[in-house]
Amino acid sequence: MSFTSPHLAGLAPYTPGEQPAIEGLVKLNTNENPYPPSPRVLAAIEGAARTGLQLYPDPESCALRKVIARHHGVDPDRVFVGNGSDEVLALVFDAFFRHAGQPLLLPDVSYSFYQSVCRWLGVAVRQVPLDEGLRVDLAAFEATRGEAVAGMVIANPNAPTGIALPLNALARLARVHPQRVLLVDEAYVDFGAESATALVARHPNVLVVQTLSKSRALAGLRVGWAIGQAPLVDALTRVKNSFNAYPLDRLAQAGAIAAFEDQAYFERQRDAVVHCREGLLLQLEDLGFSVLPSQTNFVFARHPAHDAAQLAAALRARKVLVRHFAQPRIDQYLRISVGTPGQCGQLVDALVHILQAG
Ligand code: PMP
Repeated sequence: MSFTSPHLAGLAPYTPGEQPAIEGLVKLNTNENPYPPSPRVLAAIEGAARTGLQLYPDPESCALRKVIARHHGVDPDRVFVGNGSDEVLALVFDAFFRHAGQPLLLPDVSYSFYQSVCRWLGVAVRQVPLDEGLRVDLAAFEATRGEAVAGMVIANPNAPTGIALPLNALARLARVHPQRVLLVDEAYVDFGAESATALVARHPNVLVVQTLSKSRALAGLRVGWAIGQAPLVDALTRVKNSFNAYPLDRLAQAGAIAAFEDQAYFERQRDAVVHCREGLLLQLEDLGFSVLPSQTNFVFARHPAHDAAQLAAALRARKVLVRHFAQPRIDQYLRISVGTPGQCGQLVDALVHILQAG
């Protein structure tokens, strides 16, 4: 007798193998920010830890939602928060796609978490292949107009390719299935793409998800949020309250508020990552790699003469971790997170040795 339902059989944990507890690694495999968060964040967390930990946190995260709302120029009733954007994304799938009884449109290739959530929640998926240049195929999405679908999910910039759609393309997508939610996952938007939050006022079906994990260097704090019109936020709040009325703890709420209050630190450190990305891209091209244009804190690169899985293994042997996806269409690419200039230098040195050795 088995207690495991067949829909769980294909579920695999997301990245445990990508977080090895080994000292001294150059860790360029999970798109973390190489810099620490603002000192003001640390001070705020310390302050919150000293006062009130015996009390439950604000269940509505009111102060934080106000700060996020101000940051985006919207009302707080258009802001929903959760433990990292993964949790927010899962709640969106649960609230809007789970019971639709129709397939959800996803680009193939995109962030693998979407497929996992669909499997777990029993949401049927219809994949829309990327175009020849590994870009989201806008025309293919538009060709589904009039068909019965659960909704659409776009990571913008896309992951792991790093390519972004412009705002006018997202506005066109929002009009393809106006009665269905268009979820735009903007985990990497701050590194050079246009945010679809500008569409929320005019498009009641657009829901944008962002995170503190990447551009604000707070992957460890687990804070993500969604921006959408009030009925969408209200639906998410109902789903959330039905299983966890206290999504963000006191430390996370305090630290997140401080992160938004130190805009100068954010801009300096984001600019450092973007600057390093452009240098890394040129260095990889000098080594013979083809590199996709990136609007993120990672680059997606392939070498015409070297197998990507072998390159990733050879880098790992030199204590440099990058990400390889054993997946059709992208299995000859490496996804390399942008580190500090020192880390990028170590990566390039390791590649020079590996490529020279043949
Ligand atoms: N969306 C995309 C496209 C991502 O790559 C990631 C990071 N793995 C996330 C969302 C989740 O980020 P977090 O849960 O840390 O906010």
